[in-house]
Amino acid sequence: MPELPEVETTRRGLAPAVERQRIRRAVVRHRGLRLPVPRGLERRLAGARVAALWRRGKYLLFDCGDGTLIVHLGMSGRLWLVDKATPPEKHDHFDLEFDNGRIVRLRDPRRFGLVLWQIGDPLQHPLLAAIGPEPLTPAFDGAVLHRAARKRRAAIKLVLMDSHVVAGVGNIYANEALFRAGIDPRTPAQRISRTRCDALAAAVKQTLQLAINAGGSTLRDYVGSDGRAGYFQDQFLVYGRAGAPCMRCGAIIRELRQAQRATCYCRQCQRR
Ligand SMILES: [Zn+2]
Repeated sequence: MPELPEVETTRRGLAPAVERQRIRRAVVRHRGLRLPVPRGLERRLAGARVAALWRRGKYLLFDCGDGTLIVHLGMSGRLWLVDKATPPEKHDHFDLEFDNGRIVRLRDPRRFGLVLWQIGDPLQHPLLAAIGPEPLTPAFDGAVLHRAARKRRAAIKLVLMDSHVVAGVGNIYANEALFRAGIDPRTPAQRISRTRCDALAAAVKQTLQLAINAGGSTLRDYVGSDGRAGYFQDQFLVYGRAGAPCMRCGAIIRELRQAQRATCYCRQCQRR
């Protein structure tokens, strides 16, 4: 599943090719995504110019002046550049074709992605309005995390993955950040001190930044927007490493399930 670093990598890859460019036409081949692609979207996009490509959480925002095209990659989506001669394949549900002949193409086999249109401020869209602070900005820090955690009895890992608490921290990076901060993922959130919340917030930032620097991770069918595969998965400290020795202490990395998602952790390095 594309996580925040992959979405940010996609944004950085696409932005130079689409910003200030005029959309010639949009092609919708399948309207049945997680929410239906709005009727009339093709008409709104034809002739529009993309002022900027932003990201909020895991949403990509194509600022078209009067309105914003909102794209979410869901479970299996991928958005990348092709030239006009590239024929669409089975799961290529949406194209944004530019005057310069390049096409931004959405491929989404599982169709959990989103292609939406919002007039006015995109951050007021119901899906975006309730999202918590961006993890890589000063709006998210140990104090903010502690205020949210203190009210919650749920395991800290689940609180960290709650998009109302912080935007876009998915399963992989929650696992990695908890290891870096030395916190057992099962610890009730309300028991975590301010000092440890400082460490955890810093670990979240560090983990995401490292992954963005590495060009996102390649998982299943994700490929970077320029077609190159990212390679951060080689640097995971615990995620996907159950049964292997901890890189810090040598103990065996354990795996359990929390809310149907894999949690990998080290019993020696991560404490309640
Ligand atoms: Zn360890």
